[in-house]
Amino acid sequence: MTNINFSNIIKNLERVSNIIDVDEDVIEILSSPQRVIQVSIPVKMDSGNIEVFQGYRVQYNNARGPYKGGIRYHPDTGLDEIQTLAALMAFKCTVANIPFGGAKGGIKSDPTKISKDELERLTRGYIDRIYEVIGPQKDILAPDIYTDAQIMAWVMDEYSRRTGYNVTAVVTGKPIEIGCSAERGGSTSLGGVIILKEALKSIKSKPSDTKVAIQGFGKVGSFMASFLEKEGFKIIAISDVSGGIMNKKGLNVQEILKYNQKTGSVTGCPKTDKITNSQLLELDIDVLIPAAVENQITEENADKIKARIILEMANAPITQIADGMLEKRKIIVVPDILANSGGVVVSYFEWIQDMQAYCWSEGEVVKRLKEVMVTSFDEVLEKSRKYKTSLRMASYILAVERLSAAINLRGK
Ligand code: NAD
Repeated sequence: MTNINFSNIIKNLERVSNIIDVDEDVIEILSSPQRVIQVSIPVKMDSGNIEVFQGYRVQYNNARGPYKGGIRYHPDTGLDEIQTLAALMAFKCTVANIPFGGAKGGIKSDPTKISKDELERLTRGYIDRIYEVIGPQKDILAPDIYTDAQIMAWVMDEYSRRTGYNVTAVVTGKPIEIGCSAERGGSTSLGGVIILKEALKSIKSKPSDTKVAIQGFGKVGSFMASFLEKEGFKIIAISDVSGGIMNKKGLNVQEILKYNQKTGSVTGCPKTDKITNSQLLELDIDVLIPAAVENQITEENADKIKARIILEMANAPITQIADGMLEKRKIIVVPDILANSGGVVVSYFEWIQDMQAYCWSEGEVVKRLKEVMVTSFDEVLEKSRKYKTSLRMASYILAVERLSAAINLRGK
């Protein structure tokens, strides 16, 4: 599905080792995942026929804590994509300084084309295959593309049946009735808003003076738009897969949410002008928020971007060549492993609450999320100033330094 691949991780590790003094052994250790699991899952379909699906779980690194990462169900997913995302998870958890490693899983399948019963049997079959290597102290699963809270409930149930007692902490992003944390739904976006407010301080700007465009109006983009509107930002453009809408004076997000709920798209919403997704990226704005899919800013359009800040809420929305072009133009890119880490931070809170069988209030979750996000931003900014490098490289430097310390202390 994505064009992100593991060679990009290796290139970034090489770039880090050119900037900081890091053990060659550590770079070599981080240049491949610790464990790669490929399974075949036979599923009895509603027709009575058996179909065999391919599944994956990649456990990239656990030097700092149990592996942690989502599972995606997609027809185009594959091992290279999954291992790249597993590495990104490890870096993301490490930048946020939470005691998790990185993992990712997936099943090559199109869940929109199978029944709910088939989806449940597929999920239980996947857990059957990876049961021995997952668990609250080993590897904790979560939702990702085309997987949701219901699927996480089946994961928890299947794991618990095999264990013989309830093990809620084997998976995060569960329905609230069986152990989810408050704020899990909007946590990625809330984390992004906290980071954006910090980034604005660093360029001495404030929300009310800030024009924003958001690409993508799914789970991340829609919460992002709502939160930013509440904080007083001026959102002038929004898009989804069908196209975009714009109002130079500012969009009314609550009206767009209602319209989107009714029609399934933001396009055609009253009191807005129609634009394309590529026009949205090139608007004269202050902050651009890609919150849809990967590879949206490429060498084709990087020179046309006018925003001063790009907040990567999507994973890998900027290609490596485009990233270099933006850096030369001094456009501030807040990288995915920092900007969208709010989701995994609240997943960590959910895991803690599950382990203790004690639920925090929503206020407690938000307060702690804010503390983690602000600290991560400050630490990345400090590295970026110290090494005169981009926030992306600074995030990787911070992650590699922490991983390196853990690997060396534990012994290679
Ligand atoms: P989603 O499926 O809920 O929403 C995706 C949105 O993008 C939809 O509005 C869709 O119409 C739009 N879209 C799809 N293809 C597009 C295209 N070619 N051009 C423009 N818009 C397009 O997904 P989500 O959970 O909101 O995730 C969005 C991004 O954020 C992904 O890159 C995901 O990996 C990343 N992310 C999500 C979370 C999370 O907690 N959901 C956490 C970290 C990172």
